[in-house]
This record gives sequence, structure tokens and C-alpha cells, in this order.
Amino acid sequence: MPTDIEIARQATLIPITDVAKNAGVPDEALIPYGKYKAKIDRDLLQTGDKQGKLILVTAINPTPAGEGKTTTSVGLSDALHRIGKKALLCLREPSLGPCFGVKGGGAGGGKSQVMPMDEINLHFTGDFHAITSAHNLLSAMIDNHIYWGNTLEIDLRRVTWRRVLDMNDRALRQIVGPLGGVSNGFPRETGFDITVASEIMAILCLATDLADLQKRMGDIIIGYRRDKTPVFCRDVKADSAMTVLLKDAILPNLVQTLENNPAFLHGGPFANIAHGCNSVIATSTALKMADYVVTEAGFGADLGAEKFMDIKCRAAGFTPDAVVLVATVRALKMNGGVAKKDLGEPNVDAVRKGSVNLKRHIENVKKFGVTPTIAINHFYLDTDEELAVIKEMAESFGADAVICKHWADGSAGAEELAKIVAAKADAGAPDFKPLYPSEMGLADKITTIATEIYRAANVAIPASVRSQLKQWEEMGYGHFPVCMAKTQYSFSTDPTQLGAPEGHEIAIREVRLSAGAGFVVAICGEIMTMPGLPKIPSAENIYLDDNGQIEGLF
Ligand code: ADP
Ligand code: MG
Repeated sequence: MPTDIEIARQATLIPITDVAKNAGVPDEALIPYGKYKAKIDRDLLQTGDKQGKLILVTAINPTPAGEGKTTTSVGLSDALHRIGKKALLCLREPSLGPCFGVKGGGAGGGKSQVMPMDEINLHFTGDFHAITSAHNLLSAMIDNHIYWGNTLEIDLRRVTWRRVLDMNDRALRQIVGPLGGVSNGFPRETGFDITVASEIMAILCLATDLADLQKRMGDIIIGYRRDKTPVFCRDVKADSAMTVLLKDAILPNLVQTLENNPAFLHGGPFANIAHGCNSVIATSTALKMADYVVTEAGFGADLGAEKFMDIKCRAAGFTPDAVVLVATVRALKMNGGVAKKDLGEPNVDAVRKGSVNLKRHIENVKKFGVTPTIAINHFYLDTDEELAVIKEMAESFGADAVICKHWADGSAGAEELAKIVAAKADAGAPDFKPLYPSEMGLADKITTIATEIYRAANVAIPASVRSQLKQWEEMGYGHFPVCMAKTQYSFSTDPTQLGAPEGHEIAIREVRLSAGAGFVVAICGEIMTMPGLPKIPSAENIYLDDNGQIEGLF
């Protein structure tokens, strides 16, 4: 099989102006970034009352390589076009961290990719640079404020705003700065997060327009005084300059799939510390332009789908019309107890055993009032028996299941999926409801997610966390949804508890307020806001060949 970058290189792309024309974007609303990328000026789109159908792509608990949500989103969108539907794909922009680490880029795979995949995976249209800059401008202004006398009386030990970089770099997780004596400021402990973990990223993805973006940035809490009262970004007077830095980043990016169909790639918040979905602006714009909008949420359905429904849909007033749940033979085998090194061996029993994981995700998605369709993402080594078991199990759990070969065959491989999903989306999800009402108390929201979705027998919220939540409720943040930060590998907080663990305890270690993004983060287990690189990072194999072509990106 050719690699992703080899397939990408053979693609015949059409000019972005043609992609725009096909998608109904008028010339005046198109801001080209070279031949194959563009931004869209939403204000210049002529959109009426159209409201397309929203299709979420989510997955079972994955292997570390990912199970193909992005690939399936691309394949499904292309397949909808193939059966004559007007569809638009809405994805996140990839981060450089995983590109150079283990997982690779985020532009899909095989014959289901968005193009130009090298540019998308690397610097793209500079949105991440803009977010990094806006974030670090605030960091610089905080230390500068302290340097020039600290009239806001910020407690140096309680500055919560850190710095960001779009790179996996564990060396920067905890640092001490500013060192070097009187002329450099006041030493304090701080550190770096990866750009996708920045609250600015979450804000960009939840804001409805520039004014909302600026307001939300002003609302960011950057730290606390000695009396524990919060200091806001607007107190440091950074919000307006930060908005200036983000004025282009807020515009959705238009690209094309390998089959020349339009795709919006916009924003990319981390799925742990944030909600893991592309921007509300891109999704709402797409819903006005197309009949079907296919979008993805990060990690498995326990995290991604729950946050999509409870955070993104609630904030934007979206209703999901259909949900696609991606399952793979290898992930079910892993959930059935097979070690990573043995995933290539056929093992029907392990697939059957691991299907408890699929069952639970189906039950969970139904709690939002939508019955998912199972997309069995076909891998080259899968056996017919293994695939048949997934289909049989899914159907016994009350969900339709389709074997999909879009990775190998492009849209032709997902035609059946597209037909089923389009029909379901047309029927709509009239019973859609978030898991909990906004009025519910913050601690109860955490308990509801932990018991209903993670199926915890016990939820341990320490007294200190409870009193913190109570305080935020008194400050007026009680209506916020909760953004859970948990391992993506298990329903529990232990990444080795695969399948469908029961009787476990979910312990809330810490809570953080993202006042600008508009949610409370509840941290259970380890949380990584600055990933590290593996022993052999994929960066070691990325290079320019003799013709100046990029090799090794995937
Ligand atoms: P997710 O979005 O769920 O994290 P991706 O769609 O990014 O997953 O896929 C993860 C990796 O697996 C990518 O490198 C992709 O090319 C590869 N992949 C996905 N589906 C298949 C498949 N059916 N066969 C082989 N490789 C695949
Ligand atoms: Mg993905």
C-alpha cells in the first residue's frame, strides 16, 4: 500500500476557487491562501434560513494509533457527495505535536484525506501561530504588569495563566522564570502547555463572532490575589490586542478532499482539557451552506461525544441529527484483552469479548436521544469472521452496522454508510437532549457524567473540590457545563481497564475554571497538557527527498 503522503502526492487537486464555487461560496467571500487553501469571510456569504443536518462521527475506546474517526469523516462526506447529496466536512486543524510524535497528522488516511495534507499538517494558514501569539501576549503582559509594580496585586504563587507552544516538549512542562535578577522581573514557577490546550483555542472554537471572542477573552481568569479574588484578562488590558491577533484565525479555512469535495478545517482544541471539537463558527457556517455536515469529536464517545453534545451543541444551539460510531477489529481486540503487539493476529473470540465496549458506547449515545450507526472501519488484515462478529454484535445491541472500506477505496467504500446515515439524518433525532440541564449544580453534573457515561460505582469529590465548585457557583459560573479530563483508553480513570469496567471509582483530583471558554474542567487521573515525544519520534523519519518533496508525514 502506498503511504498517506504518496497517495496525497498523486492527487489531482482543483483550484480552491473551484472548490468554493462548488460549495456555493461567492468570490467576494473567498480569501485565498495560495492555490489550494482559503479562508471564508462569513459576513459576505449569502445565507438564508437553511439549516443542514448535523452528523457527528465518534468512536469506541481506541488503540494509541487512533481508529479512524477523521478518516471515516472524510470517507462519509465524500460518499454523501457520491450519492448526490450536498455535504460539507468540518474537521479540526491538526497540531504539530502528534505529527512529530506517535500518532501522525490529522488529515485522514489512505484514500480518505483532506488536501494538501502536508500543508494542513504543518503550518497551514497560521491559525495555531495566531493562537500561540495571542496566548503568549497575555503571558508577557502579566509578567510585565508584575514587573512594573503589580498594582493589581496578583499573587505570584497563584498565576494560573501559563505559556504555550505547538510542540510536544516535556522539558517545558514545569519551569522557573523570570530568572536573572532585578531587570528581568520576579521569579516564579510556571510552565508551557501545547497550543491546543490553550483556553484561547477553546474560546476560538466556541465563540460565535469577533465580539463574543473578545468578551470571552476578557473573561479569562489569569490568576488570583492573596485574598483569592480572581484577576481577569481584561484587568491586564490584553483582550483587545489579543483579538487583533486573532481576527483572521477566527475565519474558517476551506480545503478539499482527495475527491475534490469541500471541507472546513478550523480550530483544534485538545479533547482532554477542552472539548475536542472544531469551531462553532465553521460548523454553523457549514450548516447554512450544505444539506449534511459531517463533523468529528476527539477521543472515544465517552469523552468526545459527551462533550460535543453537552458543551458544543448546548453552547451553539445545535441538534445532532445522526451519530456514526467508528469501531475497528483491532480496537475491539484490544478491549477484549489482546496485547498491542498481538493485534495483527486474527482472534474472533477477543473481538466478541471486546464488543462489551461497543455495547456500552451504543447505550451511552442513546442516552442523548440518538441511536448511532456503527461504521466498521476495515483494515487490510481484518478477517471476514472478525468483521461479521462486530456486525452481529452491533445489531444485537440495536444499532445498524456497516463495513466501510473508504480508507482503501475512497467514497465507493462508504456508499452504504452514507445511504443509511443520510436517511437517519433526514428522519432527525427528535428526542435529542443533553445529559444534564444547565441549572444542575456543578458537583452533580460531574457525578451525572461519571455514573451515567463512565458507569462509576462511586464518585469521590474531595471536600476542597466541593467548596471550590460552590464558590464558583456563587460567583455566577454554576450554569457552565463540565469538561471532563480523563484517559481516552478506558471508561474508568485507569487506562489499562479496557472493555466495559464496572464497580470503579472516579476520583476528581482537581477542578479548573475556564471562565472565557465557558466550562469547568474536572480532572480525574493524569492529565497531559504538554505531551512528550516517544523514544523514537516520527520526526526522525520526516525529511525532504532529493526533489524537495516531504517524506515520512502520515
Ligand atoms: P482518529 O481520528 O480516530 O484519531 P484517524 O482517522 O486520524 O483516527 O486515523 C488514525 C491513523 O490510522 C491514520 O494514520 C490513518 O491513516 C490510519 N487508518 C485509519 N483507517 C485505516 C484503515 N482502514 N486502514 C489502515 N489505516 C487506517
Ligand atoms: Mg481524528
